[in-house]
This record gives sequence, structure tokens and C-alpha cells, in this order.
Amino acid sequence: MNFYIMTLFPDMVTGGLSTSITGRAMEKGVISVEAVNIRDYAGNKHNSVDDYPYGGGAGMVMQAPPVWDCYEDLCARLGKRPRVLYMTPQGQVFNQSIARELAEEEDLVFLCGHYEGIDERVLEAVCTDYLSIGDYVLTGGELPAMVMIDCISRLVPGVLNNQVSADIESFHDNLLEYPQYTRPEEFRGIKVPEVLLSGHHKNIEEWRRKESIKRTLKRRPDLLENANLSKKERIFLEELLAISESL
Ligand code: SAM
Repeated sequence: MNFYIMTLFPDMVTGGLSTSITGRAMEKGVISVEAVNIRDYAGNKHNSVDDYPYGGGAGMVMQAPPVWDCYEDLCARLGKRPRVLYMTPQGQVFNQSIARELAEEEDLVFLCGHYEGIDERVLEAVCTDYLSIGDYVLTGGELPAMVMIDCISRLVPGVLNNQVSADIESFHDNLLEYPQYTRPEEFRGIKVPEVLLSGHHKNIEEWRRKESIKRTLKRRPDLLENANLSKKERIFLEELLAISESL
């Protein structure tokens, strides 16, 4: 899978993504990440890419022509027009199911704004999706692009050593993941739950599902509405709800 990041700060994104798991995936050739510098398309001797907003107001706005030229050049090079995701606090909030859908693409372009954002006309011309990483405002779209690329990459076959871990972790079935333990068996007097040492896979699986339901109810009850639960698990959830209501 190929990620292209249109940005004014290429070092920021390549530096972050070329370490750890995404870095190894790049080395293996399972994903590629290319930062394209919008400033290379400034087209003026001062390399300036922003200007004052029409109508006045605070801050500067990234101009349309460099973004357009950068995008057109990229598409000409690729010989296709991939989806362009504009990183914006005004977009749909990114989540695991959006990540799963995006992971099906072969190429994705991330457009990172800065300052007060980008001239609306070029956004309308090039963007297919408007995505946010949460209801807060950052200085630029680089961190959101890195967050999304990290998350999408984990779903690309061959990126994780153990693909199962991406299939059954938090948000799978709309549940949070169960608690995890590793050695030592006892830490500060607290032992690892007995069932995990039993080697009984069916009981371990059942315990983990129950812990997931408990944890989701406690930390993210909003997810449970769309959780994929068996009949037995629904009864368990109802019992938990009855206990919490009686407290
Ligand atoms: N004036 C814009 C507004 O009120 O919607 C905010 C501009 S913000 C300071 C600069 C850039 O950061 C945006 O163009 C966008 O690319 C990025 N950005 C900021 N917060 C973001 C978020 N929560 N999710 C995704 N991108 C964000």
C-alpha cells in the first residue's frame, strides 16, 4: 500500500513514520510513504505558499495554486487519481472502521493543512474525504496524517508479525480489548488471573470476552449499542447492567 503525504513539513512525517513498525514495513516494501513538499510548487522566488484571508481575520491561508500543482504533478506521476484525504478538524472523526475501509485502497493521498487551513476552491477540486482525529484543533495536518497512516498500516497484511493481533484487539466487534498480562506471574502481590495459566483455550476465550464486555461497559458504554454479542453474552451484559443499577 502506498501513502503520499502532501505537506509543508516533509521531515516531520517521514521522520516519525520511518521508525518502529511502520519503518520496518517500509523496509520490507509492504508499505511505502512519500512526503511531497507543497512548497516545491510555490512558483515564486520567496517560496511563499500562504497569504492573508480575503475578508480579513486572523492568520494566513494556504494558497490554492501550489496545492493544485503539487496534486496534479503527483497524479501525473502515478498515472491515476487516488483518494485524497484532507486532514481537518471539520471532518468525520477517524475510527477503526474507517481505517479498515481505507486499508482496502492501493494508494492514498493525505493533504495536510497549516495556518488557518487551505483555500476552499482547491479543497473542493481535489479532496474526496474530510477526516479529523478528534474535536480539538492542532497546528497542522501532519500529526493526524501520521496517526491515520499508522493505524491503516497495521491492517495491511505483512505489516504486523502476527496479523491476528490486529483482528481481535480493541474495537473488534465494537468492544474494547480484555486486560493483557505477561511475566512475572506475580507482581507486587498481584497474581495473573488463574484462568490464563490453565491452558484451557475455551475458558480463556470466554474469560477474555467477558472482560472485554465489562471493560467496555465501564470505559466506553457508548460502543455497546453496536457490539457484536452472542445471546449468552447479551445475558451477561444485562446481568452486569442490573448489578450496576442496583448499586
Ligand atoms: N481554521 C481551521 C478551522 O477552524 O477549522 C483550523 C486550521 S488548523 C490550525 C491547521 C490545520 O491543521 C488544518 O488545516 C488541518 O489540516 C490540521 N488539523 C488541525 N486540527 C485537526 C484535527 N483535529 N484533525 C485533523 N486535522 C487537523
